[in-house]
Amino acid sequence: MTPLTLYNSLTRSLELFQPADPENVRIYSCGPTVYHYAHLGNLRAYLFTDTLGRVLTWKGHGLTHIINITDVGHLTSDADAGDDKMEAAAKASGKDIWAVAEYYTQAFKANLKDLNVRDPSRFPLATDHVDGMIAFGEAIAEKHCYRLSDGLYFDTSTVPDYGRLAGTRDDGPAEGRIQSVAGKRNAADFAIWRTSAPGENRQMEWDSPWGRGAPGWHLECSVMSRQYLGAHFDIHTGGIDHREIHHPNEIAQNQAYSGSADSGATLWMHNNFLVDRGGKMSKSTGEFLILPALVERGFHPLAYRLMCLQAHYRSELEFSWYNLAAAQTRLKRLVQTVAALRARGEAKGAASAAPYTERLDAALSDDLNTPRALPVLDELLADKRVSPADRLAALADFDAVLGLGLLTLSREDLRVRPKAAGIDEAGIAERLSDRRDARAAKDFPRSDAIRDELATLGVEVMDGDPLGWDWKVVL
Ligand code: AMP
Ligand code: ZN
Repeated sequence: MTPLTLYNSLTRSLELFQPADPENVRIYSCGPTVYHYAHLGNLRAYLFTDTLGRVLTWKGHGLTHIINITDVGHLTSDADAGDDKMEAAAKASGKDIWAVAEYYTQAFKANLKDLNVRDPSRFPLATDHVDGMIAFGEAIAEKHCYRLSDGLYFDTSTVPDYGRLAGTRDDGPAEGRIQSVAGKRNAADFAIWRTSAPGENRQMEWDSPWGRGAPGWHLECSVMSRQYLGAHFDIHTGGIDHREIHHPNEIAQNQAYSGSADSGATLWMHNNFLVDRGGKMSKSTGEFLILPALVERGFHPLAYRLMCLQAHYRSELEFSWYNLAAAQTRLKRLVQTVAALRARGEAKGAASAAPYTERLDAALSDDLNTPRALPVLDELLADKRVSPADRLAALADFDAVLGLGLLTLSREDLRVRPKAAGIDEAGIAERLSDRRDARAAKDFPRSDAIRDELATLGVEVMDGDPLGWDWKVVL
């Protein structure tokens, strides 16, 4: 197989991947903050880590992959200001904070299943690790932290190279990027522990040497990654926003705890943003799309997966309904081609599929270049010199790494019916009449296409219904 190179944000360069233990590659991915649904941008982050994990498995590695669940500590501002996102959401809805966390955690896991994202080894909860966070804080407090009235703060000048990952080492934190809490020694200093203000009414609070309160957000990832993967592991992932604040702060904590310059991970990898016309998709602005909203409009979740695979993970990707529709059409065509190959059975071929698998490997080994792998899949499926059976066998390799479920998806699966129909009766009658004409002319692809189009509008065509209904709206 081709040696794998991956882009390391720490060195800003492509590096040959050399895991400490090839049998057990250790990966930590910063997980979602469960005060709301994961939006499509968040899900792009886990599609990226899933591709990474699938490629490593395909190349013969064993994996330990951790995705944490942030159910405490993440503030509404990345500076140490504002409310805890979880507390604010619970307050706004009048709900119990633990119930809010549980609800959105389950919704997130359901999204991952729908997208064929493989389960990580574990989804540890931040709130299950508060004792570990307090112990970590105690270990670094004396040499690296200082007290302010509202908590314990990390002094970023006490570790080597603070901000190297963000690329701000020489010029200091960008103006306005991190507001100073009054009394901070350095603008980039951050909270290890936030002591509750007198009279502050928090649902989640713990006792600590720094008073009753809650851990700072960055602490959880240093503690959980270390607990489950060790002091130094292979790959740490997150969205590109984490390259600026969260990950530099994790690194600073790791260095303080280990008393060395080691960042804690060999590779720091970041996916770029999913954007829409308004800019980066973001939960805090309240304007975002969730996976069930796509299904509601007649799209299969795996069409979104394919849309993401069409872009390199380090490129920005623009969401549009048009791009999604194009991806769904491409997915349908792939599924149809696979069905046709199956029907062809055991015809002999003159050529081997091996060059396609090699090209797949070459594309993915080049920093997970999925957009380069997809046309190879199209070429493989269309190559008549390769027997249908060999093409299907090679397809299994593509499926293993791309996770599109091409060997199991059926055309019916892709006929997603939205809850609310988007067409009136006259429109339906017109399309059904076109469809009858197409069938009379034995133009079945066209007849099927009309049926699919109606399905996306929430209308199910009912051929041969005993009561004589030829369509129904699915509510
Ligand atoms: P959060 O739930 O905000 O903690 O974010 C979960 C993950 O999604 C993190 O790795 C973020 O960096 C990532 N992320 C947030 N917004 C986007 C976006 N628009 N596109 C891609 N990744 C994102
Ligand atoms: Zn993290």
